[in-house]
Amino acid sequence: MKDISANDLRDNIPLVAKQHDGHKSTVRVGNAVIGGEALVVMAGPCAVETPELTLDIAKAVKAAGATMLRGGAFKPLTFPYRRGFMMEIGEPGLAWLKAAGDAVGLPVVTEVMDVRMVDTVAKHADMLQIGARNMANFPLLIEVARTRKPVLLKRHFGASLRDWLGAAEYLYYYGNTQVVLCERGVVAPHTHEVTSRFIVDLQVVPAVREYSHLPVIVDPSHSTFKRSYVAAIACGAIGVGADGIIIDVHREPEKAAVDPLQALSYDAFGTLMGQMRGIGAVLGRTV
Ligand code: PEP
Ligand code: MN
Repeated sequence: MKDISANDLRDNIPLVAKQHDGHKSTVRVGNAVIGGEALVVMAGPCAVETPELTLDIAKAVKAAGATMLRGGAFKPLTFPYRRGFMMEIGEPGLAWLKAAGDAVGLPVVTEVMDVRMVDTVAKHADMLQIGARNMANFPLLIEVARTRKPVLLKRHFGASLRDWLGAAEYLYYYGNTQVVLCERGVVAPHTHEVTSRFIVDLQVVPAVREYSHLPVIVDPSHSTFKRSYVAAIACGAIGVGADGIIIDVHREPEKAAVDPLQALSYDAFGTLMGQMRGIGAVLGRTV
């Protein structure tokens, strides 16, 4: 892996590189500000399933103190097969998610996977998520940049910080300065369990701070892929100075249509919120 050099900072990532001590940008999404003193908690289902369930989850995460609603209508599923249940709702799910967010007063973040769908997703979303698999899909980055909507740029599981910041630089270069980074686990040759697909790179949070002014959050759900690890990693993320988390929460976690192994119940999410408040307070951050 190539380290980030002084030449990189000057010539390759001048727009996202930190210019001076304390240089840190904030991104406003509706009534949420990401990168300031308050931590952002984006919570919701992995996938949007029904309008009723989306609203129920939105109410639950809002009551627990979440600041944004997450949910995928378009999903980068690992395998092309579907159970009888529909696993990717598509376009109708965008409206369900937005309606649920509006009903409880939370801005929504949702993934856009396809350059042809950017305008459609942008119509409903307050923030556009670039999934890990599309981090270096440069035509998609350019189209998303042109919407001028806030962007959540997930790190590809095989990307260095240098490559990740290069992708963020594309967004800035094409006119979008509303960029938030998201660490979601990287591939390591040997993890200690087959169910643990990725290793969470918490060290990248202080590394982002060293080189860039962009806010950075962590996804403890997709990075651990395992419910019993999620709260610990979420607490760790706050502990290392992340600007917040994005997390899967579901009314019936083990019945979630997508990623049922990692979603938290409403109760578990409420408990975690209390823990994050405590850790945040020590570091001068509010939740
Ligand atoms: C997601 O957040 O729903 C998702 C698919 O995440 P990732 O791109 O990090 O795998
Ligand atoms: Mn998922």
